[in-house]
Amino acid sequence: MSLTLVVDVERWRAAQERACAALPGIVPVVKGNGYGFGRELLCREAQRLAVPQIAVGTYAELPEALAAFGREVLVLEPYRPAVCGGLPDLADARVLHTVTSASDVADLRNRAPGSRVLVEGLTSMNRFGAPLDRLGELAAETGAVGATLHLPLGTGHVAEIGRFLEAAPEISRWYVSHVTGQELAELRRRFPGRELRPRVGTALWLADPAAYQVRAGVLDVRPVAKGDRCGYRQRPLPAGHLVVVSGGTSHGVAMESPSSAATARSRAVAVAEGVLEAAHRVRSPFTVSGTTPRFAEPPHMQCSLLVLPAGVAPPAVGDTVAVRMRLTTAYVDAVELASPDRR
Ligand SMILES: *Cc1c(COP(=O)(O)O)cnc(C)c1O
Repeated sequence: MSLTLVVDVERWRAAQERACAALPGIVPVVKGNGYGFGRELLCREAQRLAVPQIAVGTYAELPEALAAFGREVLVLEPYRPAVCGGLPDLADARVLHTVTSASDVADLRNRAPGSRVLVEGLTSMNRFGAPLDRLGELAAETGAVGATLHLPLGTGHVAEIGRFLEAAPEISRWYVSHVTGQELAELRRRFPGRELRPRVGTALWLADPAAYQVRAGVLDVRPVAKGDRCGYRQRPLPAGHLVVVSGGTSHGVAMESPSSAATARSRAVAVAEGVLEAAHRVRSPFTVSGTTPRFAEPPHMQCSLLVLPAGVAPPAVGDTVAVRMRLTTAYVDAVELASPDRR
């Protein structure tokens, strides 16, 4: 049975529309595991939202995005000749490249004449970019379409973005991340001549956690006596039921800090020992019969063994149960677009 992400489509789309309304000029980010939904589905949702641009994380993600989304695609990783030089789609007219130096742009234009670029500024993220005092010059030298800034989570964005906008008044279009609607409005008031475009992933696709749920299938249920053993590690079990569910390490199950461990210290210890090794000591992320049972042992690649204590009514084979997962590290087998109202 599959590990399935069940999406209440109407509710999910309503949250997307709210995010778009709160962040005018939004550039949806479609990268990595597609925030749990998969990149192709997000490309189609972005197409439906009628935005003029989306952003992908890497050049490797570009071909699929160009096929699934009909308008412009920004690449968030910087163009580097040694790593990106031989990749496909460099010359596609719908691509906007991110660059941090004039020599990289020269190499890119050698391979893909006329390619359009955004210059990235080095922010307090300290990830990559041209320094603040070089950005305007780089934009002018390369004929850049605009500039792009990546900011830490949290606050203080207005001051930092403001410094860049002041330092490079000739750059009219700026892409920014992790700003709130209020911060964006404040920046637009302070810099009326500039065009600000917020890049948004989490606050767009994962804006309403009640709009989606990961569900696992119950593969088997077996009564066990105290001292019975199971699994690769042959650990002894308490009396109750052994419940086998779909969803394991290959899906990203238990790949986050076990937030239900009793204290901050026990959480820290669990993380320090490795989440998987700690898994038999912490509650699993599965909800079974209204409880969050423990793992019998660390999850397997495609399924997990859970211990349901005596006295708790077990589920039936074929039932589905909810799994708490961080969707940015989840790889589900299937996404089910459901419309509960019409079922
Ligand atoms: C991932 C990413 C974003 C989007 O981040 P979220 O927290 O998912 O909104 C924006 N800009 C850059 C450069 C990124 O790498």
